[in-house]
Amino acid sequence: MKAALLSVGTELLFGQITNTNTVYLSRKLNALGIDVMYHFTVGDNPERLAEMIETSFKDCDLVITTGGLGPTQDDMTKEIACQVMGDHLVMHDDILQSIRARMLSYKRVMTDNNIKQAEMPSRCRIFYNDSGTAPGFALDRAKADGSGEKQWIACMPGPPKEMTRMFEKSVQPWLEELAEGCLFYREIRTFGVGESDLETILMPVIDGQTDPTVATYAKNGETMVRVASKRETAEDAKAAVDKMTGRIEELCGQYIYSYDGEDYSQVVGKLLIERGLSISCAESCTGGMFAAALTDIPGISAVFDRGLVTYSNQAKIDELGVKPETLEKHGAVSKETALEMAAGVKRVSGSDIGISVTGIAGPDGGTPEKPAGLVYIGFAYGDRLECREIKRTLNDRGRNRRNAMLSMFDVIYRNI
Ligand code: ATP
Repeated sequence: MKAALLSVGTELLFGQITNTNTVYLSRKLNALGIDVMYHFTVGDNPERLAEMIETSFKDCDLVITTGGLGPTQDDMTKEIACQVMGDHLVMHDDILQSIRARMLSYKRVMTDNNIKQAEMPSRCRIFYNDSGTAPGFALDRAKADGSGEKQWIACMPGPPKEMTRMFEKSVQPWLEELAEGCLFYREIRTFGVGESDLETILMPVIDGQTDPTVATYAKNGETMVRVASKRETAEDAKAAVDKMTGRIEELCGQYIYSYDGEDYSQVVGKLLIERGLSISCAESCTGGMFAAALTDIPGISAVFDRGLVTYSNQAKIDELGVKPETLEKHGAVSKETALEMAAGVKRVSGSDIGISVTGIAGPDGGTPEKPAGLVYIGFAYGDRLECREIKRTLNDRGRNRRNAMLSMFDVIYRNI
């Protein structure tokens, strides 16, 4: 099934709001095995909206709109959808009752505009709105080519909270019915390999693929592999994905850390809890990002003792016992300092694991010998004291810091 996403709202065209609905829906439709062919945005203009829906139907069987379902004059998605699909609006009493109840609970008076919201296409499927007043709906029409096949439009409200809730509760189950076959997909997460390298490694399974499909994509400093299969039954689809996952593992298993979409902090956090390994950290360039990610995990208090942000040289000396000579001779961003930081935080906390990070986040502060992106991660565990050096020479502070944080999880994962 091929789909177009149509966002309605002049404020989107002015750049006043970011179109997060399209990002969300694209991901959801892809996961359902529906090909998203187009993203369109149109202002609050009836002619252009009608034209965009017709244009979308040239290539697609499904158009999903968001926005323009509200009660005001410029909200016209419902009327235009009816016009294009050959239907008309009728009053739906149950919707009128629920809008009345909602208004009452807000202690607001029902206006003519609110009443208008209870008018819906006569032969539509309604998607109720739990978090707002505008319901959504789906409507079909026969294709103009006389094939007897159908085309569908689904209209949802613009506010992301209302739209996502409606999608999950009502629209997704409807789409699952509509798209023949059962889809199963898995997101495999890797770290330490770029997207193009990973694609090259996986070429034997990417090349000539039909089902399952294998695709790599980069996201926030990591590379993901998405494996999807659509078969007659959910079991068949899962079995095909499992088999392909085995082949992927053979090809790039050393980079994989998660098979079910869990992020690195969750994977490592769970592992630490399972093994009963206590941990403390000393962070410089990440300024607490590692500790923040770790404390996102429920139950982490069983193993996480403390996270120190030791940004200045003095803090490294005072809190961790890093030797002033080490800082003077090798600098704050050095293997020697990272090792003393890790050993120091392990000693002061008494944790099983001490992990540290020190680096040049950039964009300034780098030198030819120590460029922005240079990071050292110290790891102290039992008698072991090790350091990983990361040389990325990237002038992007955000990416350098995130990569340093992820690398800390990677160091732990690889070592325990
Ligand atoms: P309402 O009943 O709230 O008027 P509506 O369906 O008419 O619902 P719009 O008026 O088009 O929706 O949009 C309401 C708000 O929803 C916008 O001001 C904006 O904040 C948000 N919104 C609309 N479309 C999008 C979008 N594509 N991405 C993110 N936010 C959006």
